[in-house]
Amino acid sequence: MVALTFDTNMTDSMLRELDNGKVESFVNQAAIDELRRLQVPATIFLAGKWVERYPDVTRSLAGDRLFELGSHSYAHRAFKTPCYGLGPAMPAAEMAPDVDHSEAVIRQYTDHPTPYFRFPGGCYDQAALDAIASAGVVVVQYDVASGDAFGTSVGAIVNQTLRQTTNGSIVVMHLTGVNTAPLPAEALPRIVDGLRGRGLRLVKLSELLAAT
Ligand SMILES: [Zn+2]
Repeated sequence: MVALTFDTNMTDSMLRELDNGKVESFVNQAAIDELRRLQVPATIFLAGKWVERYPDVTRSLAGDRLFELGSHSYAHRAFKTPCYGLGPAMPAAEMAPDVDHSEAVIRQYTDHPTPYFRFPGGCYDQAALDAIASAGVVVVQYDVASGDAFGTSVGAIVNQTLRQTTNGSIVVMHLTGVNTAPLPAEALPRIVDGLRGRGLRLVKLSELLAAT
């Protein structure tokens, strides 16, 4: 079994890019369409600010039994310094409230939320884990980075993903499109074909974790 997982992020600077027209959308609808066309179950980690910006897309994802939703934080701020371009980590006292907030936002859209939480940028340490313990979430990162973040070659994304994925793998991809991760829709057919061709079954995270 393999779980394909997808993150969405939304920071205040991304919101500004939308508001000033620099970026048209941070929704990769083509990738969502591909998941449906290929009938790929998927776990989607949503940032709260992305959900608030895209309520209709969130409703559509939440209403599709192919998908389950997890939290990718509320504001997609760093939980550890450094974390790529996310700036310094937020104060520890703000971490659990951020996670709680994200879960409350997601619960407005689904009656079957998962307890899964993924740190922005994949960056965390023991202090961050301690700080969010009261939120009661299950932290799920990934062992395979598809390379779709800023990836500009479909072949490279496909090859990197297929090379690293084994039975039990959790793969991360992104659904924010354009300049953050432009190519998952183009890479998905070959990734899905390649994995299924090796006899690997694509499942939601809940099914993978229940079995292991
Ligand atoms: Zn992210």
